[in-house]
Amino acid sequence: MTLSIRFDNSYAQELVGLYVPWQGQEWPHPRLALLNAPLAEALGLDPEALRSPDGVAMLSGHAVPESARPLAQAYAGHQFGGFSPQLGDGRAILVGEVIDPEGARWDIHLKGSGRTPFARGGDGRAVLGPVLREYLISEAMAALGVPTTRALACCTTGDRVLRQFGLEPGAVLARVASSHLRVGTFQFFAARGEYDKLHLLLDYAIARHDPDLAGVADAALQFIARVGARQARLVAQWMGLGFIHGVMNTDNTTISGETIDYGPCAFMDSYDPATVFSSIDQMGRYAYGNQPQILLWNLARLAEALLPLIDAQEERAIARASEVITQTQTAYRSARDEVFSRKLGLDVPDAALVEGMHKLWEGQGVDFTRFFRLLPQALRGVDAPLRALFAAPAGVEDWLAQYRAAVPDPVAAEARMGMVNPVYVPRNHLVEEALHAASFKGDMAPFNALLSLLQAPFEPVSGMERFEHPAPADTPQVVTYCGT
Ligand code: AMP
Ligand code: MG
Repeated sequence: MTLSIRFDNSYAQELVGLYVPWQGQEWPHPRLALLNAPLAEALGLDPEALRSPDGVAMLSGHAVPESARPLAQAYAGHQFGGFSPQLGDGRAILVGEVIDPEGARWDIHLKGSGRTPFARGGDGRAVLGPVLREYLISEAMAALGVPTTRALACCTTGDRVLRQFGLEPGAVLARVASSHLRVGTFQFFAARGEYDKLHLLLDYAIARHDPDLAGVADAALQFIARVGARQARLVAQWMGLGFIHGVMNTDNTTISGETIDYGPCAFMDSYDPATVFSSIDQMGRYAYGNQPQILLWNLARLAEALLPLIDAQEERAIARASEVITQTQTAYRSARDEVFSRKLGLDVPDAALVEGMHKLWEGQGVDFTRFFRLLPQALRGVDAPLRALFAAPAGVEDWLAQYRAAVPDPVAAEARMGMVNPVYVPRNHLVEEALHAASFKGDMAPFNALLSLLQAPFEPVSGMERFEHPAPADTPQVVTYCGT
């Protein structure tokens, strides 16, 4: 292999016992379908080299540069509330870490690169539709300013994989993250009672994400608080966009506070806290409105895993950890009030106005994204389009009166709102349309058109009005499937 990427391998070197050295599978005809050239450049990688046969070999998983020590990561996790002591990368590998020109460390990770020792019953594969879904939604999230893993490339493998609706093109996603450490990574060692290794893992995570905590007396506790603060901000941003992750298991909850694992996720059209899209979430555990509670539940699982490192005396450790969870709950509340107040164009957060707006939406079928785009004109007195979003707009007048009173300078507010309220989000029907054309007709044009709108989501493009609106009323509700 002539590809000269200098990989660093801190995870492989420092976390023995938390992975299995592993290579990707060899594919019949690996082909590069998409490359995120600006991201490659930001990482200090040469897009042309990534497009070369050796680049494609690396991005599809079957050959890696000399400097890499590819591996499958082990982790545990609570899935829908039930604990699995061993999950791990069943169909993924960490190729290695690259250091960007600014000195930041990034994981290069492949999903769909073949079976690993953690595959259990799975086939180790990924198919084009779900890989493109993750590519599209993670790039949309990045453009919306939400912390997220990024999509570097999508390769097709040249063979076909059996899924729910028949044979689909096999694919591999290359993604980038500030790390792939999850709450479940800590649960792995905790469940085995391997506290020395748990300590090593904590030191490693601190060095990577919170270096100022290195050597601090109550580092474990402070680390949990940092993770809580990042996750609180993250979930507040999701809520502000109507985003539903769909599988907030502890193995899909990062230490970095980045959104990870876009499976059965979706943006809701009309506001309803009970909205769920995932076919496997029968109980609505991960519904839109439950996400803030689940964030705290997942943080409590991290705290539980780290208890012995908080305080040797268990009761004291539990009391201190509980305090951190309570603080995180408060942090979430203020992050959420801030996010929604910014969406209203306010200078100063106004919890009562935000609360009133949520009340106003109840049972009204209001399109979440459109509501915020129509607010500036409602501020100026043109409120018919906004009222038309409501099934019964009775309370709108009163709330608008309070809102106008809270905004002394509507022009400045409108400018601020234009920067946080997107015109375009990856609405389900548009995403499905684009993925269907790519997977079943070999036509990437709808995907590319949608991707380009989502990469600049605050800029209206004339002629693209269809992309601003929810699905026509007769469109069936989209369900997204796991086991993708
Ligand atoms: P996810 O729901 O995508 O977060 O995956 C949960 C676990 O199942 C992870 O350990 C994955 O690696 C594993 N997994 C999901 N799909 C497959 C597959 N097709 N083959 C092997 N493992 C899989
Ligand atoms: Mg996962």
